[in-house]
Amino acid sequence: MNPSIIHERKLFGPGPTNPYAEATAALGLPLLGHLDPEFIRILDETCEDLRTVWSTSNARTLPLSATGSAGMEAAFVNSVGPGDVAVIAVNGLFGQRMVDVAGRCGAEVVQVDFEWGTPVDADALAAAHPSPKVIAAVHAETSTGVRSDIAAIGAIKGDALLLTDAVTSIAGIELRADDWGIDIGYAGTQKCIGVAPGLAPFTINDRAFERRIENPQSWYLDLGMLGGYVGEAKGKRTYHHTAPVAMVCSLHAGLKRILAEGLDNVWARHEAAGKALHDGLQEQGFELFAQEGSRLPELTTVKVPDGVDSAKVRGYLLENFEIEIGAGVGKYADTVWRIGLMGPNANPASVTLLLGAIDEAIK
Ligand code: PLP
Repeated sequence: MNPSIIHERKLFGPGPTNPYAEATAALGLPLLGHLDPEFIRILDETCEDLRTVWSTSNARTLPLSATGSAGMEAAFVNSVGPGDVAVIAVNGLFGQRMVDVAGRCGAEVVQVDFEWGTPVDADALAAAHPSPKVIAAVHAETSTGVRSDIAAIGAIKGDALLLTDAVTSIAGIELRADDWGIDIGYAGTQKCIGVAPGLAPFTINDRAFERRIENPQSWYLDLGMLGGYVGEAKGKRTYHHTAPVAMVCSLHAGLKRILAEGLDNVWARHEAAGKALHDGLQEQGFELFAQEGSRLPELTTVKVPDGVDSAKVRGYLLENFEIEIGAGVGKYADTVWRIGLMGPNANPASVTLLLGAIDEAIK
């Protein structure tokens, strides 16, 4: 297939988003060897810049060479084994995926359910078990467009390790791993970081590292071995697997782009774009799905009006405007739309385009 016939879509779904131009340009740079000193410098800087977007000083902060789900696997496989109790908050698809992953690691999972469209409640998690090894929650539930208060969970975690999914929150909304008590966090590149899918920004603090599972059943995601990959002992980088060089260079460029704008400014830009979209959709008569007060600016969930065919509208937007928006998830597949304004797409022009296109599409 001739790649030039691929359409240039406006990716306003739940991810991937359109990448920052700098991240795309970096994919075309000459390929370096994965042990080339120049690449090692780029990887070092990438880890440093990831510390900034995680708001952490954790030495063990790195881009895992796989997508966000591998970040989730790495988080659990290194922290829970047979008999360990994991309290897991479920208010959408990705909390449910955590339950599946932790169960496969042999953990005794205590699942705490919350209505989809609402945030998780820290007190309910605290009451679920007296002494869990891990408490896990999704910061920004992509399936429902809801933000949960991770700092509140950090405040009640006691001796447990706090494991957090920041796939859709990182570099989009306020995220403070150290201040909030996050011990293990994973993310993805394809949402607000504005880089193509393929890497999982990951962070783990000393407390969690010391209590990790030795020799976990996953060789590839064994964090004990990955320290050498990112050169934990300076100048002693060891081969673990071939780094996805082009993707790391792209992430490096995307992070530089974000930090040049300033993380606070990037958060404010996402906040403003999301609010404009929420307001505009409501002015057009739409009802939002996520509970008021917990709505993500970077991912808006909208109820499909009665009598409107969800798939037809999405097809119309794609065909006539090159716009992709997402369907709902699970039982909301046909009754909710998910609209993302992430990374470079979080701007007023995207909002205006979306509101006009949706208005035309439902007529
Ligand atoms: N967690 C959340 C909140 C997500 O939104 C996603 C993907 O959309 C994942 C985990 C899984 O990431 P990936 O699809 O990159 O494997």
